[in-house]
Amino acid sequence: MSDCLFCKISAGEIPSKKVYEDELCYAFHDIAPQAPVHFLIIPKAHLASVSAVTPDNCAVVGHIFAVIAKLAAEMGLDSYRVVSNIGAQAGQSVPHLHFHVLSGRDMTWPPG
Ligand code: AMP
Repeated sequence: MSDCLFCKISAGEIPSKKVYEDELCYAFHDIAPQAPVHFLIIPKAHLASVSAVTPDNCAVVGHIFAVIAKLAAEMGLDSYRVVSNIGAQAGQSVPHLHFHVLSGRDMTWPPG
């Protein structure tokens, strides 16, 4: 999508600190980290949020979770949290599907 921040980041049109990239997804450090480890992983194809996932396009979500597990293992993370906010009330500020991966500090539940 031409005016989407995360589409521009995954296309290299806006700079980011890349963690990982393949043909389907792009991972990069969050610009405002909320934990010692905080990166985002997104599909390259635009989807607005989890709400836009369907049986026809859901393969990329499984792929993203396999990449998260691989990156976490490579980073030596034995405990981490994966979060996706859907909609403004839940805290979504960028309307392109993304998963936060957070680690390196104690976390509380329920989330705020
Ligand atoms: P959310 O609020 O769940 O939609 O998450 C969006 C995340 O994107 C926030 O944690 C922001 O800090 C992060 N963010 C916004 N702009 C950038 C950027 N240019 N580079 C990296 N992370 C960003």
